[in-house]
Amino acid sequence: ARRARLRTSRGPGRTADGHPVRLLLNIGSAADLERDAAQADAEGVGLFRTEFLFLDRKQAPSFEEQVAAYADVFSGTEHVVVRTLDAGTDKPLPFLGLPQEQNPALGVRGLRVDRLLPGVLDTQLDAIAEAARRTGAEPWVMAPMVTTVGEASDFARRARARGIGRVGVMVEVPAAALRAGRLLQEVDFLSIGTNDLAQYTFAADRQHSALADLLDPRQPALLELIALCAEAGRRAGKPVGVCGEAAGDPLLAPLLVGLGVTSLSMAPVCVPAVREALAGLTLDECRDRAQAALD
Ligand code: PEP
Ligand code: MG
Repeated sequence: ARRARLRTSRGPGRTADGHPVRLLLNIGSAADLERDAAQADAEGVGLFRTEFLFLDRKQAPSFEEQVAAYADVFSGTEHVVVRTLDAGTDKPLPFLGLPQEQNPALGVRGLRVDRLLPGVLDTQLDAIAEAARRTGAEPWVMAPMVTTVGEASDFARRARARGIGRVGVMVEVPAAALRAGRLLQEVDFLSIGTNDLAQYTFAADRQHSALADLLDPRQPALLELIALCAEAGRRAGKPVGVCGEAAGDPLLAPLLVGLGVTSLSMAPVCVPAVREALAGLTLDECRDRAQAALD
């Protein structure tokens, strides 16, 4: 079926003095895109969470089923960043049959599932590449929970071997943020997952309401890690975005732009307020806010 296409009439977000910032959407399926395409004026999809296709199932979706689901999203928008399966912790996938863990947030999740079940990622990358071929799309592909440069280069090699042109990694673990410059020698872009990056930086469960103050994205330690990634991106001339909830908060978005991030990916309902917040401040004012928060 022909899907509604994203409307991008206003182009990128812009600060008051015209500095462009890509505004992108977080989605879980083509149905999300169809439902939200009419109201969100965004340039594409910055985070396609593919695990939703895998949830609540007894068996893994087949290769063909995956190709169809990815192709549906690719035909709905020019620019899509696909995240490979992020199973584990808050997103358990029973059919994978992964062993129970004492400490699942620190266990086999995200890209790490590939250590125990290598076929899952390979099949998914094949399906993404095939969906791209069928639709003529050029999706960007990134892996969640990357921790080391070695993991990033292995992932990049496997994605590129399938003809995927733009390969990136999520920065969700402090170790990855600290090595941002080196990671960008292996991949084409970074996408900072502030939800998990906060969890792992402050050693605080992201779903624990009693620890919300520690998880506040305004915490200077988190901002320093984001600044490090953005600076590495600037040096390498490669995009560094934020796709965690912080990106959709109109108070935080200018601050992230002030730190140097080049795109913000958010729930579709957040786009208008973020666009407006950016339009109300110059880039220097965004930088001042970032510096004040760091201080
Ligand atoms: C994040 O961790 O910030 C992120 C965007 O990924 P998820 O919320 O799906 O873990
Ligand atoms: Mg995450």
